[in-house]
Amino acid sequence: MATHKYVYFFSAKNAEGDASKKQLLGGKGANLAEMAKIGVPVPAGFTISTEVCSYYYDNNNEYPKSLQDEINKNLEILEQETGKKFGDSQKPLLVSVRSGAAVSMPGMMDTVLNLGLNDVTIKGIIEQSGNERFAYDSYRRFIQMFGNVVLGMKHESFEHELETLKEEVKVKLDTDLDTNNLKELVKRYKSKVKNIVGVDFPQDPQEQLQKAIDAVFSSWMNPRANTYRRLNSISDKIGTAVNVQSMVFGNMGETSGTGVAFTRNPANGEKAFYGEFLMNAQGEDVVAGIRTPLSIEKLNDIMPHVYKELLSIAQKLENHYTDMQDLEFTIENKKLYLLQTRSGKRTGFASIRIAMEMYDEKLIDEKTAIMRIDPNALPSLLANIFDPAEKKIATKENKIIAHGLAAGPGAASGKIVFTTEKAVELAAKGEKVILLTSETSPEDISGMNSSQGILTTRGGMTSHAAVVARGMNKPCIVGCTAMEIDLSKGKVRFVKSDTEFVILSEFDEISIDGFTGEIINKDLKTIDSEIEQVFVTEEIALKDSTIAQHYDKLMAWANKYKKLMVRANADTGPDAKIARKHGAMGIGLCRTEHMFFEEERIMTMRRMILAVNDKERQMAIDELLPYQKDDFIEIFREMNGLPVTIRLLDPPLHEFLPHDEELIADMAFELNKSEVRIKNKIEDLKEFNPMLGHRGCRLAISFPEIPKMQVRAIMEAACELQKEGIEVFPEIMVPLVGHYKELEIQKDLIREVAELVMREKGITVKYSLGTMIEVPRAALTADKIAKHAEFFSFGTNDLTQLGAGFSRDDAGSFLPKYEELGIYDSNPFQVLDRDGIGELIKIAIDKGHQTNPNIKLGVCGEHGGDPQSVEFCHKIGLSYVSCSPYRIPVAILAAAQAAIREG
Ligand code: PEP
Ligand code: MG
Repeated sequence: MATHKYVYFFSAKNAEGDASKKQLLGGKGANLAEMAKIGVPVPAGFTISTEVCSYYYDNNNEYPKSLQDEINKNLEILEQETGKKFGDSQKPLLVSVRSGAAVSMPGMMDTVLNLGLNDVTIKGIIEQSGNERFAYDSYRRFIQMFGNVVLGMKHESFEHELETLKEEVKVKLDTDLDTNNLKELVKRYKSKVKNIVGVDFPQDPQEQLQKAIDAVFSSWMNPRANTYRRLNSISDKIGTAVNVQSMVFGNMGETSGTGVAFTRNPANGEKAFYGEFLMNAQGEDVVAGIRTPLSIEKLNDIMPHVYKELLSIAQKLENHYTDMQDLEFTIENKKLYLLQTRSGKRTGFASIRIAMEMYDEKLIDEKTAIMRIDPNALPSLLANIFDPAEKKIATKENKIIAHGLAAGPGAASGKIVFTTEKAVELAAKGEKVILLTSETSPEDISGMNSSQGILTTRGGMTSHAAVVARGMNKPCIVGCTAMEIDLSKGKVRFVKSDTEFVILSEFDEISIDGFTGEIINKDLKTIDSEIEQVFVTEEIALKDSTIAQHYDKLMAWANKYKKLMVRANADTGPDAKIARKHGAMGIGLCRTEHMFFEEERIMTMRRMILAVNDKERQMAIDELLPYQKDDFIEIFREMNGLPVTIRLLDPPLHEFLPHDEELIADMAFELNKSEVRIKNKIEDLKEFNPMLGHRGCRLAISFPEIPKMQVRAIMEAACELQKEGIEVFPEIMVPLVGHYKELEIQKDLIREVAELVMREKGITVKYSLGTMIEVPRAALTADKIAKHAEFFSFGTNDLTQLGAGFSRDDAGSFLPKYEELGIYDSNPFQVLDRDGIGELIKIAIDKGHQTNPNIKLGVCGEHGGDPQSVEFCHKIGLSYVSCSPYRIPVAILAAAQAAIREG
């Protein structure tokens, strides 16, 4: 019987994989094979597939039986192709062992370079390279990486030795250490290993290889990889591949080097080759941000022919993949090798510009351009910028205290924090913070996620901080060398010149401009983005903004392909206006209770709640009517020609009452009632579980005067506007229905009032009547409910809460753990839980259609603005989703992508 194949070889002669095998070989492995196939120089190697990773985790960290044989066979082929031998004292083969999942997770998993080095093979390396310094430099790097990744030692243990030695021999840079220094370092590193781990540094290359493979597979489940997957909704199941590749050396002296490059600018999308490199270095030196790298054009001065070749390979790869590529390369003794290519991570700005320009260059078509943009990146385009007037004043006042590299666009201000822990702690209290640190590492992702923006001393545009911040769409400045952080004192010093500096303390306010790289010693006000200024406030003409033109074109295409309508959750005229400008095709949810919270109205509302008899209640309700009517007039006017779904009162009444003593006293005075009576009433209204209590249509059944007033307000507003020639389509919606009889009662009431108002006004308005489906019982009995409804709007917030049985206000205390354990892949209040809540929705649709085939269906919970949930809504055939005004472009794009994906 043929054994299952787990290992795939790649070289110019023989590439068993290709770019289509990403799931199996991981992105790195698949693209290495593809590059080898199309004639790009890559060092030969082999990929151990992601299936092995799954096997490893499913079988108690054991490997398939046939794997070792396959590895040995591939190692042999690699030896033949390179003319070197693993463990040989004359022509030793050294390899790198790298992770690589199907979805790129930069820096989250482990890598070991220079593997195969030991006290014997180093002789061969010296012989082969004629460069003893290089050989020992590689050896000390190997011990450190292996020590860290495989033996679990801290980097600091090695860094400490390195710094001590540098002090002893009085040099500043690692590259200033000479051969003897490095030999000494290797000796010290080895005894460090012995001291800490208690074993000699392993000399057997086979043992080194096996342990490194184990470590890379294990790193799939390390905490930072888990966190990264959670933040980016990547499944734990896909696993990583392991790439074993013959080493090429960027640290072989001044004719060698290593770097990373993007075929277009990842921050703003400009079509310009963009990258950084270091001579005499290995890959980790560039990304770790230890030495600040040189900009790629400098390579043209140092090695023009290599630069030219790199440019032409970059172009070839971009054309081949028809997408912006993120490349890793190494130059070994003037010879160029590519170590990786992948679609480059980019900001929202860059993604639109690149997609639109590639369309213009005829590299991609409309649909591909749409698919290239992550809907979740759109909010960053609408993200605020600093108020130019304030910024100007700050500049004049000399408040710009430093500059760094603008690595992630956007404007952010907040309190200074120096650690991830503080960032998380303050953010949990609702504070805005900016994380200031020398550099970030994967351990910092939760701190970065909690911060408004990130500012680092070290690193370039491709440092960890820059890459991760861009992925998170956060403003970020890196390489701000004028910043000196003193953690022990909780202070930071910005050196402006030889004589001038500014010292700030933890929690002082600061602003960072991720568009320009400026650090501002002031809490600056932020204002609308350029796109908002074009489409919402209309302060800038479309012809004057390139980004707005790209955005406009994109949204026009998306609107053309999408099948779902996108509506807005908006409660006021101004919100409705913004929503419409962002492309809303109506209002899917107008929560009427928000209207009662305004200054003058809240007292009337309270008077209604505290009324002792029907007459008193009716008086208060009559007073509320004109307020409601005015609101509806404003909203209908803004939504001329489009449907507006208005939900009748939903929350429990106690939400409108004050709870602290002082406010109660004020209210008693204002309403001319006794404090004791008010307190008693508040006590009466208290509920153990208000979300399951006297709210929604239950309130309307207890106090029919309330819905009567609301329906009158809606219909009077509609009739009057229709007379003016405005097209109105009110959709009156009953909340929290669980039993069809609840809706039946409300339906009769609504019809009666609506008919009455239309008779009074002498005009007929086309209105419809429906219900939210947010109680599981309603979903399960939707056939009965649909007989009384013209539409269902799925309230997925409550449906999730009631369906899963956890309170949306309290779930924060346990859901993170649930996500960590993979009980739920993501927060079910953000991403619709298809298996559970999705099933309830499907049942409701099926049953609803049985008795009312024409029933209109939509979603108005928060999920309406989440791309994955929008895709689900598309798949199950809803006619619209409704979301907050700023998520509308997200939903439109996600709906278009869902339609295109379906084909
Ligand atoms: C819902 O429950 O999904 C909904 C839209 O209503 P609310 O969030 O106001 O309860
Ligand atoms: Mg609800």
